[in-house]
Amino acid sequence: LGRHSDAERQTGFDYNGIHFDQDNLNVFAGLCAVDNPTHVEEMLRALKDNGQQCTRMGAYKPRTNPYSFQGHGADCLPWVFELAGRYDIRVVAMEVTHENHVQEIEQALEQTGHPTGVMLQVGTRNTQNFELLKALGRQSTFPVLLKRGFGITLNESLNAAEYLATEGNTNVIFCLRGMKTEAGNPHRNLVDFAHIPVVKRLTRMPVCIDPSHSVGVRDRAPDGMSDIVHATAQGVIAGANMILADFHPNPEKALVDGPQAMLPRDLPRFLKDVELCHETY
Ligand code: PEP
Repeated sequence: LGRHSDAERQTGFDYNGIHFDQDNLNVFAGLCAVDNPTHVEEMLRALKDNGQQCTRMGAYKPRTNPYSFQGHGADCLPWVFELAGRYDIRVVAMEVTHENHVQEIEQALEQTGHPTGVMLQVGTRNTQNFELLKALGRQSTFPVLLKRGFGITLNESLNAAEYLATEGNTNVIFCLRGMKTEAGNPHRNLVDFAHIPVVKRLTRMPVCIDPSHSVGVRDRAPDGMSDIVHATAQGVIAGANMILADFHPNPEKALVDGPQAMLPRDLPRFLKDVELCHETY
């Protein structure tokens, strides 16, 4: 995936009718964690109404606290994919924490018979889970979104991406999602979107940003806009190719990360701002 290797290698890829490369931009707005069919459907309807073809939906949730909601796992996959297919959502970004999850996803997709595709996500806690990376590299069905490790160097995270490629899967997107810093940071993580051009210089991977997990709260700046929206604009201006963004129809009821979820009514303005930044820069 690095620019130092074979110059003929791919710079982008198509998956289920959606193109990913270092020049274009795809938005994946959706639920951090799937909770119930009503919320999933409300979210999908809002996406469809706003012309979207991709979403993020978490079924397997790696949590810091073992007593927190861990996600519905395989149980929710058939109805999530059924609903996504009904709303013509073509690619669902979904974190996996074990290689067995890939088979579960494959089976659920076959079961529903809808043309919904999945982009497998490796979360920041698993960036250096090399056996998981190798397993995801060996399968060629699904592209992989690899999140930067929140406590390791950029180069170490880029090396992690090479584990996917060396096993055969070069349909990889690299995601910046903020870095842990000492206590006192007003945001959940220190936003690292200034590294977008660096990753693009060093590699051929399209670069994703996750402003929701980077900032962690929908607090409003003095101009009335959420800090998450400001971080998103910074990322798009810096050349981001994909945006993961948490939304929830009722953030107070969200089982995971409610404080950082924006509301579906914010979606049209969010998408407009993203488009304006992308067109201008
Ligand atoms: C997520 O995207 O749902 C998530 C848990 O992100 P991260 O791995 O960046 O914490």
